[in-house]
Amino acid sequence: MTRLLSIDPLHIDDALIQRAAQVIRKGGLVAFPTETVYGLGANALDSAAVARIFTAKGRPASDPVIVHIGERDQLDQVALNVPPLASRLAERFWPGPLTLVLTRHPSIPAIVSSGMPTVAVRMPSHPVALALLRAAQVPIAAPSANRFSRPSATTAQHVLEDLHGAVDLILDGGPASIGLESTIVDLTGDPPVVLRPGGIPLEDLRTLLPALQVQVRLLREDEDGILAPGMLYKHYSPRAPLLLFDGPHQSVVEAMRRTVLDMHSRGKAVGLLIASGERSSFDDLPALLFDMGGDLAAISSQLFEGMRSLDRQGVDAILVHGYDRVGLGLALWDRLLRAAEGRVIECG
Ligand code: AMP
Ligand code: MG
Repeated sequence: MTRLLSIDPLHIDDALIQRAAQVIRKGGLVAFPTETVYGLGANALDSAAVARIFTAKGRPASDPVIVHIGERDQLDQVALNVPPLASRLAERFWPGPLTLVLTRHPSIPAIVSSGMPTVAVRMPSHPVALALLRAAQVPIAAPSANRFSRPSATTAQHVLEDLHGAVDLILDGGPASIGLESTIVDLTGDPPVVLRPGGIPLEDLRTLLPALQVQVRLLREDEDGILAPGMLYKHYSPRAPLLLFDGPHQSVVEAMRRTVLDMHSRGKAVGLLIASGERSSFDDLPALLFDMGGDLAAISSQLFEGMRSLDRQGVDAILVHGYDRVGLGLALWDRLLRAAEGRVIECG
């Protein structure tokens, strides 16, 4: 049975945290808020508990999960030969939305990392996540708390939508503030490589890592369309197909308007994910509008809620356009591309 309990991040109820920590220590699953998205957590040292994460999410065993720690000292219990660079990054960006890929410590079971010799580690900054990690006194393996390939969960309600009955306890600490996942940096090779853009912008990482490279498949320039084994295009997707428009703003607006009218004439229900400033460009159309907010931070935090909200309203397609790919915008573009299964409608 799934229990959902509210917890105030500013006045943490210690008894509730102890109860959640107990569930983790006994091999159960706890969904908890982080500053990026909600995590579906299990004791990272317990392979049977971690196996429950994969079952609950319907996640393939080939997709590894991130290990969360609550104290800097725990890093040496989950990773081997931690390089000085990892310590410098941790010093600068932890707690926060940065995940480091390092050499896996033998204490971390292979299932966590899909059998790879590496481990992805992060220390979240959300007070509820930190309190839970510190009370549990074990590292917590936690992917996003959504069914596999669905938009990540950024509220406790999203967790319930996807995982009711499959998780023991959900801690509801309100909406995740960033709303996109962590930036993942692989430090096991030279130079360091970004595997996923996220909450820490590349520009910030480059101040410490000038040689940083980016190997995010969908963000490469010449997409050859061939899927490498284990590469998953469909990710973060709403149920309705997501149509991603890109190009000069005026051309994009015109193309989106034409598409809405065309789909409407064919009896389709259309949803639009837009920014606040764009309402007047679309509000005369026969479409459902979801206003994600006025700036990149707001838009990023509302993206997954927007997809889920339009899905709940039963639209046949969701139209959205790209935003500037600087700062958090790169992570936003990555999630939009994946949700659109790599297809972009180029306009103008
Ligand atoms: P999620 O938290 O659901 O966004 O998923 C965790 C992400 O971290 C996935 O995209 C994984 O591929 C990535 N990840 C976890 N462990 C590793 C690892 N050892 N090496 C590379 N990527 C990893
Ligand atoms: Mg995920």
